Amino acid sequence: MSDKKIPLAGVIGSPVAHSKSPQLQHHWLAAHNIAGHYVPMHVEAEDLEHVIRTLPKAGFVGVNVTIPHKEAVMQIADKVTDRAKLMGAANTLIFRSDGSILADNTDGYGFITNLHQGAPDWVPDSGPAVVLGAGGACRAVVASLLEAGTPEILLTNRTRARAEQLQKDFGNHIKVIDWVQAGNIIEQAALVVNTTSLGMQGKPRLRVPLDGLRPHMVVTDLIYTPLKTDLLQAAEQVGCTVVDGLGMLLHQAVPGFERWFGQRPEVDEAARAAALK
Ligand code: NAP
Repeated sequence: MSDKKIPLAGVIGSPVAHSKSPQLQHHWLAAHNIAGHYVPMHVEAEDLEHVIRTLPKAGFVGVNVTIPHKEAVMQIADKVTDRAKLMGAANTLIFRSDGSILADNTDGYGFITNLHQGAPDWVPDSGPAVVLGAGGACRAVVASLLEAGTPEILLTNRTRARAEQLQKDFGNHIKVIDWVQAGNIIEQAALVVNTTSLGMQGKPRLRVPLDGLRPHMVVTDLIYTPLKTDLLQAAEQVGCTVVDGLGMLLHQAVPGFERWFGQRPEVDEAARAAALK
Protein backbone atom coordinates (compact mmCIF):
# COMPACT_ATOMS: atom_id res chain seq x y z
CA MET A 1 0.00 0.00 0.00
CA SER A 2 1.27 3.49 -0.85
CA ASP A 3 2.07 5.78 2.09
CA LYS A 4 1.87 8.84 -0.15
CA LYS A 5 -0.22 11.59 1.47
CA ILE A 6 -3.52 12.48 -0.17
CA PRO A 7 -3.50 16.26 -0.67
CA LEU A 8 -6.46 18.04 0.91
CA ALA A 9 -7.83 21.52 0.32
CA GLY A 10 -11.11 23.23 1.10
CA VAL A 11 -13.07 26.38 1.65
CA ILE A 12 -13.55 28.06 5.02
CA GLY A 13 -16.52 30.35 5.63
CA SER A 14 -19.67 30.95 7.62
CA PRO A 15 -21.99 30.08 5.97
CA VAL A 16 -20.27 27.84 3.44
CA ALA A 17 -22.91 25.31 2.34
CA HIS A 18 -23.86 27.46 -0.69
CA SER A 19 -20.29 27.45 -2.06
CA LYS A 20 -19.82 26.22 -5.61
CA SER A 21 -16.11 25.63 -5.04
CA PRO A 22 -16.28 21.96 -3.93
CA GLN A 23 -17.96 20.72 -7.13
CA LEU A 24 -15.62 22.82 -9.28
CA GLN A 25 -12.47 21.64 -7.50
CA HIS A 26 -13.61 18.02 -7.57
CA HIS A 27 -14.21 18.34 -11.31
CA TRP A 28 -10.64 19.59 -11.77
CA LEU A 29 -9.20 16.92 -9.46
CA ALA A 30 -10.93 14.24 -11.52
CA ALA A 31 -9.92 15.85 -14.84
CA HIS A 32 -6.26 15.83 -13.74
CA ASN A 33 -6.46 12.41 -12.17
CA ILE A 34 -5.34 13.74 -8.79
CA ALA A 35 -6.25 11.69 -5.73
CA GLY A 36 -7.10 14.74 -3.61
CA HIS A 37 -10.14 16.09 -1.82
CA TYR A 38 -11.70 19.53 -1.35
CA VAL A 39 -14.04 20.07 1.60
CA PRO A 40 -16.38 22.86 2.70
CA MET A 41 -15.65 23.85 6.31
CA HIS A 42 -18.08 25.94 8.34
CA VAL A 43 -15.81 27.74 10.80
CA GLU A 44 -16.80 30.52 13.23
CA ALA A 45 -14.57 33.54 13.81
CA GLU A 46 -13.46 32.44 17.30
CA ASP A 47 -12.15 29.13 15.93
CA LEU A 48 -10.56 30.49 12.76
CA GLU A 49 -6.93 30.70 13.83
CA HIS A 50 -6.94 27.35 15.63
CA VAL A 51 -8.51 25.60 12.61
CA ILE A 52 -6.11 27.20 10.13
CA ARG A 53 -3.04 26.33 12.22
CA THR A 54 -4.25 22.73 12.57
CA LEU A 55 -5.13 22.01 8.94
CA PRO A 56 -1.56 21.62 7.59
CA LYS A 57 -0.94 18.93 10.22
CA ALA A 58 -3.92 16.99 8.82
CA GLY A 59 -2.60 16.97 5.26
CA PHE A 60 -4.13 20.20 3.95
CA VAL A 61 -2.09 22.04 1.31
CA GLY A 62 -4.25 25.15 1.43
CA VAL A 63 -7.74 26.59 1.56
CA ASN A 64 -10.00 29.17 -0.01
CA VAL A 65 -11.46 31.69 2.36
CA THR A 66 -14.87 33.27 2.00
CA ILE A 67 -17.20 35.59 3.92
CA PRO A 68 -16.72 36.66 6.71
CA HIS A 69 -13.07 35.65 7.16
CA LYS A 70 -11.33 37.28 4.18
CA GLU A 71 -9.85 40.12 6.28
CA ALA A 72 -9.15 38.14 9.46
CA VAL A 73 -6.96 35.54 7.74
CA MET A 74 -4.47 38.25 6.80
CA GLN A 75 -3.62 38.59 10.51
CA ILE A 76 -3.12 34.84 10.86
CA ALA A 77 -0.95 34.30 7.76
CA ASP A 78 2.85 34.53 8.04
CA LYS A 79 3.14 36.29 4.69
CA VAL A 80 0.60 38.31 2.72
CA THR A 81 1.10 39.04 -0.99
CA ASP A 82 1.18 42.67 -2.14
CA ARG A 83 -2.03 42.24 -4.12
CA ALA A 84 -3.87 40.87 -1.08
CA LYS A 85 -2.58 43.84 0.96
CA LEU A 86 -3.81 46.21 -1.76
CA MET A 87 -7.23 44.60 -1.71
CA GLY A 88 -7.37 44.45 2.08
CA ALA A 89 -8.53 40.83 1.95
CA ALA A 90 -7.32 37.32 1.12
CA ASN A 91 -9.28 34.51 -0.50
CA THR A 92 -6.56 31.88 -0.91
CA LEU A 93 -4.18 30.40 1.67
CA ILE A 94 -1.20 28.27 0.75
CA PHE A 95 0.30 26.03 3.44
CA ARG A 96 3.98 25.85 2.53
CA SER A 97 6.29 22.94 3.18
CA ASP A 98 8.32 25.02 5.67
CA GLY A 99 5.17 25.30 7.82
CA SER A 100 4.45 28.94 6.95
CA ILE A 101 1.12 30.22 5.64
CA LEU A 102 0.90 32.50 2.59
CA ALA A 103 -2.25 34.60 2.03
CA ASP A 104 -3.12 35.76 -1.48
CA ASN A 105 -6.05 37.40 -3.25
CA THR A 106 -6.98 36.03 -6.67
CA ASP A 107 -10.29 37.92 -7.18
CA GLY A 108 -8.67 40.62 -9.35
CA TYR A 109 -6.96 37.97 -11.47
CA GLY A 110 -10.30 36.14 -11.77
CA PHE A 111 -12.15 39.27 -12.78
CA ILE A 112 -9.74 40.42 -15.47
CA THR A 113 -9.11 36.96 -16.90
CA ASN A 114 -12.85 36.36 -17.17
CA LEU A 115 -13.26 39.68 -18.95
CA HIS A 116 -10.53 38.86 -21.47
CA GLN A 117 -11.99 35.40 -22.05
CA GLY A 118 -15.60 36.60 -22.40
CA ALA A 119 -14.82 39.77 -24.38
CA PRO A 120 -11.63 39.00 -26.31
CA ASP A 121 -11.91 42.24 -28.31
CA TRP A 122 -12.03 44.42 -25.19
CA VAL A 123 -8.93 46.59 -24.89
CA PRO A 124 -8.38 47.92 -21.34
CA ASP A 125 -7.15 51.34 -22.48
CA SER A 126 -9.96 51.84 -25.02
CA GLY A 127 -11.92 54.12 -22.69
CA PRO A 128 -13.35 54.71 -19.21
CA ALA A 129 -14.91 52.02 -17.08
CA VAL A 130 -18.09 52.78 -15.17
CA VAL A 131 -18.04 50.76 -11.96
CA LEU A 132 -21.20 50.46 -9.87
CA GLY A 133 -20.58 49.74 -6.18
CA ALA A 134 -17.63 50.11 -3.85
CA GLY A 135 -17.77 47.08 -1.55
CA GLY A 136 -15.17 44.38 -0.91
CA ALA A 137 -15.22 42.81 -4.38
CA CYS A 138 -14.97 46.22 -6.02
CA ARG A 139 -11.44 46.71 -4.69
CA ALA A 140 -10.28 43.70 -6.71
CA VAL A 141 -12.07 45.00 -9.81
CA VAL A 142 -10.57 48.47 -9.51
CA ALA A 143 -7.06 47.18 -8.80
CA SER A 144 -7.10 44.82 -11.77
CA LEU A 145 -8.57 47.38 -14.19
CA LEU A 146 -5.94 49.95 -13.27
CA GLU A 147 -3.18 47.34 -13.53
CA ALA A 148 -4.49 46.38 -16.99
CA GLY A 149 -4.27 50.02 -18.14
CA THR A 150 -7.83 51.36 -17.93
CA PRO A 151 -7.30 55.14 -18.14
CA GLU A 152 -10.22 56.24 -15.97
CA ILE A 153 -12.71 54.64 -13.63
CA LEU A 154 -16.00 56.42 -12.98
CA LEU A 155 -16.96 54.98 -9.62
CA THR A 156 -20.42 55.34 -8.17
CA ASN A 157 -21.80 53.90 -4.96
CA ARG A 158 -24.86 54.43 -2.79
CA THR A 159 -22.58 55.28 0.13
CA ARG A 160 -20.32 57.89 -1.43
CA ALA A 161 -17.75 57.74 1.39
CA ARG A 162 -16.87 54.16 0.43
CA ALA A 163 -16.15 55.21 -3.15
CA GLU A 164 -14.08 58.14 -1.88
CA GLN A 165 -12.04 55.75 0.25
CA LEU A 166 -11.27 53.72 -2.87
CA GLN A 167 -10.22 56.90 -4.65
CA LYS A 168 -7.87 57.69 -1.73
CA ASP A 169 -6.40 54.19 -1.87
CA PHE A 170 -6.09 53.88 -5.66
CA GLY A 171 -5.53 57.47 -6.79
CA ASN A 172 -6.55 59.95 -9.43
CA HIS A 173 -7.54 57.57 -12.17
CA ILE A 174 -10.72 57.15 -10.13
CA LYS A 175 -13.45 59.76 -10.34
CA VAL A 176 -16.27 59.49 -7.81
CA ILE A 177 -19.77 60.16 -9.11
CA ASP A 178 -22.96 60.49 -7.03
CA TRP A 179 -25.13 57.36 -7.04
CA VAL A 180 -28.11 59.38 -8.31
CA GLN A 181 -26.03 60.27 -11.38
CA ALA A 182 -25.11 56.65 -12.19
CA GLY A 183 -27.46 56.47 -15.18
CA ASN A 184 -26.00 59.64 -16.69
CA ILE A 185 -22.39 58.41 -16.85
CA ILE A 186 -23.02 55.07 -18.54
CA GLU A 187 -22.91 56.52 -22.05
CA GLN A 188 -19.25 57.54 -21.44
CA ALA A 189 -18.20 53.96 -20.74
CA ALA A 190 -16.23 51.47 -22.79
CA LEU A 191 -16.86 48.99 -19.99
CA VAL A 192 -19.65 48.79 -17.40
CA VAL A 193 -19.18 46.65 -14.29
CA ASN A 194 -21.78 45.92 -11.62
CA THR A 195 -20.04 45.11 -8.35
CA THR A 196 -23.09 45.77 -6.18
CA SER A 197 -25.26 42.94 -4.91
CA LEU A 198 -28.27 44.53 -6.64
CA GLY A 199 -29.87 42.11 -9.08
CA MET A 200 -28.71 39.04 -7.19
CA GLN A 201 -31.32 36.40 -6.31
CA GLY A 202 -33.07 37.54 -3.12
CA LYS A 203 -31.70 41.12 -3.31
CA PRO A 204 -33.37 44.28 -4.62
CA ARG A 205 -33.22 45.06 -8.35
CA LEU A 206 -30.59 47.33 -9.85
CA ARG A 207 -32.60 50.45 -10.66
CA VAL A 208 -29.91 52.47 -12.44
CA PRO A 209 -31.29 53.80 -15.78
CA LEU A 210 -29.61 51.91 -18.60
CA ASP A 211 -30.53 53.97 -21.65
CA GLY A 212 -26.89 55.09 -21.95
CA LEU A 213 -25.84 51.57 -23.04
CA ARG A 214 -24.40 51.42 -26.59
CA PRO A 215 -23.60 48.39 -28.78
CA HIS A 216 -19.81 48.91 -28.68
CA MET A 217 -19.70 48.54 -24.87
CA VAL A 218 -18.66 45.56 -22.80
CA VAL A 219 -20.93 44.93 -19.79
CA THR A 220 -20.15 42.55 -16.97
CA ASP A 221 -21.77 41.67 -13.66
CA LEU A 222 -20.04 40.04 -10.68
CA ILE A 223 -23.33 38.38 -9.76
CA TYR A 224 -23.78 34.82 -11.06
CA THR A 225 -27.14 33.94 -9.47
CA PRO A 226 -28.88 34.47 -11.82
CA LEU A 227 -26.33 33.99 -14.56
CA LYS A 228 -28.08 36.50 -16.80
CA THR A 229 -28.92 39.46 -14.57
CA ASP A 230 -31.36 42.19 -15.64
CA LEU A 231 -28.31 44.36 -16.41
CA LEU A 232 -26.81 41.74 -18.73
CA GLN A 233 -30.19 41.12 -20.38
CA ALA A 234 -30.63 44.85 -21.06
CA ALA A 235 -27.07 45.10 -22.39
CA GLU A 236 -27.55 42.08 -24.64
CA GLN A 237 -30.69 43.61 -26.12
CA VAL A 238 -28.73 46.73 -27.03
CA GLY A 239 -26.03 44.61 -28.68
CA CYS A 240 -23.27 45.01 -26.07
CA THR A 241 -20.79 42.25 -25.39
CA VAL A 242 -21.86 40.71 -22.07
CA VAL A 243 -19.77 38.69 -19.62
CA ASP A 244 -21.39 36.92 -16.67
CA GLY A 245 -19.93 36.59 -13.18
CA LEU A 246 -19.53 32.81 -13.09
CA GLY A 247 -16.28 33.00 -15.05
CA MET A 248 -14.76 35.25 -12.38
CA LEU A 249 -15.56 32.63 -9.75
CA LEU A 250 -13.93 29.93 -11.89
CA HIS A 251 -10.82 31.90 -12.83
CA GLN A 252 -10.16 33.09 -9.27
CA ALA A 253 -9.96 29.43 -8.28
CA VAL A 254 -7.23 28.58 -10.80
CA PRO A 255 -4.12 29.93 -8.98
CA GLY A 256 -5.07 28.15 -5.74
CA PHE A 257 -5.62 24.81 -7.45
CA GLU A 258 -2.33 25.13 -9.31
CA ARG A 259 -0.37 25.98 -6.16
CA TRP A 260 -1.99 23.22 -4.09
CA PHE A 261 -2.11 20.38 -6.59
CA GLY A 262 0.64 21.28 -9.07
CA GLN A 263 -1.48 21.36 -12.24
CA ARG A 264 -3.08 24.33 -13.96
CA PRO A 265 -6.80 23.63 -14.49
CA GLU A 266 -8.88 24.71 -17.49
CA VAL A 267 -11.77 27.15 -17.29
CA ASP A 268 -13.97 25.70 -19.99
CA GLU A 269 -17.57 24.62 -20.53
CA ALA A 270 -17.05 21.48 -18.46
CA ALA A 271 -15.79 23.55 -15.51
CA ARG A 272 -18.76 25.90 -15.83
CA ALA A 273 -21.14 22.97 -15.91
CA ALA A 274 -19.48 21.43 -12.84
CA ALA A 275 -19.83 24.68 -10.87
CA LEU A 276 -23.50 24.92 -11.83
CA LYS A 277 -24.36 21.36 -10.71
P1 NAP B 1 -20.23 44.05 -0.18
O1 NAP B 1 -18.85 44.35 0.27
O2 NAP B 1 -21.30 43.80 0.83
O3 NAP B 1 -20.70 45.28 -1.12
C1 NAP B 1 -22.02 45.37 -1.58
C2 NAP B 1 -22.15 46.53 -2.58
O4 NAP B 1 -23.52 46.59 -3.02
C3 NAP B 1 -21.84 47.91 -1.99
O5 NAP B 1 -21.33 48.75 -2.98
C4 NAP B 1 -23.23 48.37 -1.55
O6 NAP B 1 -23.36 49.77 -1.44
C5 NAP B 1 -24.06 47.87 -2.70
N1 NAP B 1 -25.46 47.75 -2.31
C6 NAP B 1 -26.01 46.79 -1.54
N2 NAP B 1 -27.34 47.03 -1.38
C7 NAP B 1 -27.61 48.18 -2.07
C8 NAP B 1 -28.79 48.93 -2.30
N3 NAP B 1 -29.98 48.56 -1.78
N4 NAP B 1 -28.71 50.05 -3.08
C9 NAP B 1 -27.52 50.44 -3.61
N5 NAP B 1 -26.37 49.76 -3.42
C10 NAP B 1 -26.41 48.64 -2.65
O7 NAP B 1 -20.27 42.79 -1.13
P2 NAP B 1 -19.10 42.26 -2.10
O8 NAP B 1 -18.33 41.21 -1.40
O9 NAP B 1 -18.39 43.43 -2.68
O10 NAP B 1 -19.97 41.50 -3.22
C11 NAP B 1 -20.77 42.24 -4.15
C12 NAP B 1 -21.40 41.27 -5.15
O11 NAP B 1 -20.39 40.65 -5.93
C13 NAP B 1 -22.18 40.13 -4.49
O12 NAP B 1 -23.34 39.91 -5.25
C14 NAP B 1 -21.24 38.94 -4.61
O13 NAP B 1 -21.94 37.71 -4.68
C15 NAP B 1 -20.54 39.24 -5.92
N6 NAP B 1 -19.20 38.64 -6.00
C16 NAP B 1 -18.95 37.80 -7.06
C17 NAP B 1 -17.69 37.24 -7.20
C18 NAP B 1 -17.43 36.31 -8.36
O14 NAP B 1 -16.46 35.55 -8.30
N7 NAP B 1 -18.22 36.38 -9.41
C19 NAP B 1 -16.67 37.51 -6.26
C20 NAP B 1 -16.96 38.38 -5.21
C21 NAP B 1 -18.24 38.94 -5.09
P3 NAP B 1 -23.09 50.49 0.00
O15 NAP B 1 -21.60 50.65 0.12
O16 NAP B 1 -23.84 51.77 -0.11
O17 NAP B 1 -23.66 49.56 1.05
